[in-house]
Amino acid sequence: MGPAALNPVAMSSRVQLWSDALALVVLVTGLYALGAALPLQRMGYGYAVRFELPAAGRKIGLPKIEGPQDASRPLVVIDAGHGGHDPGASGMGYEEKALTLGLARTLRDRVLAGGGIRVAMTREDDHFLALAERRDIARALGAGLFISIHADSAGDESGITGATIYTLSAKASDETAARMAARENRADRINGVELEGQSDTVSAILADLSQRRVREESTELAGLIIREGKGLMAFHPTPRRSAAFVVLKSPDVPSVLFEAGYITNPEDAQRLASPEGRQRFAEVVDKAIRVYFARQAGA
Ligand SMILES: [Zn+2]
Repeated sequence: MGPAALNPVAMSSRVQLWSDALALVVLVTGLYALGAALPLQRMGYGYAVRFELPAAGRKIGLPKIEGPQDASRPLVVIDAGHGGHDPGASGMGYEEKALTLGLARTLRDRVLAGGGIRVAMTREDDHFLALAERRDIARALGAGLFISIHADSAGDESGITGATIYTLSAKASDETAARMAARENRADRINGVELEGQSDTVSAILADLSQRRVREESTELAGLIIREGKGLMAFHPTPRRSAAFVVLKSPDVPSVLFEAGYITNPEDAQRLASPEGRQRFAEVVDKAIRVYFARQAGA
């Protein structure tokens, strides 16, 4: 058999193809010439879409970092629970938002006095912050730890007493991992790994690995607080718990929520409000933070 060119039908379709291609070249060349001739930029038709990305650390609302001005030093973000129109729990004449701020300030001062660790506070006065904002402050600052301070309430059960440390529960972590994976095409960072451009599977694995590590590190800090607090601090009989706290849902910052005692118990409330009680609290948590960061540095 000869080549297909001998077939008149194939011949005509080939000619058609060539003329289509030529028409396309003419069209593209024409459009290009038009684009070059017209002052499109000045008319507002830019060729590229540009995004103005906020520089790191310049985002409005980020608190100052205190302590050594050396980014290689570990950073702890201390979060005084509640504030502003949200007083939190109340009891024994106290409001939780005031107790947590007093504890947070004392802890900050203690950590800064010890040196070597940077500190930022989500709030330093009586104003409201959403839970996600608190968490996002720690993430945006690249914190090594996030500690949210609260005081428990047991309603009328004034006999219930002691501190409890919460970490994020496994169930909630899985939901977060699922959400992280669903956002695989967005520019996001987990432990410095840029997720943009990664495949779904790789992003999901990175999110999962990161969260497993963060869960382990959160649990480690919680354990250290209880260890350092033995004999110095009154803990609840079940001092280690986990729950789906929104404020703890950081995929990349080890986080704990410290219910420092019951505002509904007279002794606990008194302790959390007194300078001595605050100092004791700060002493214990500062020690735990230092042991934690020392281990991280040695790992
Ligand atoms: Zn609270």
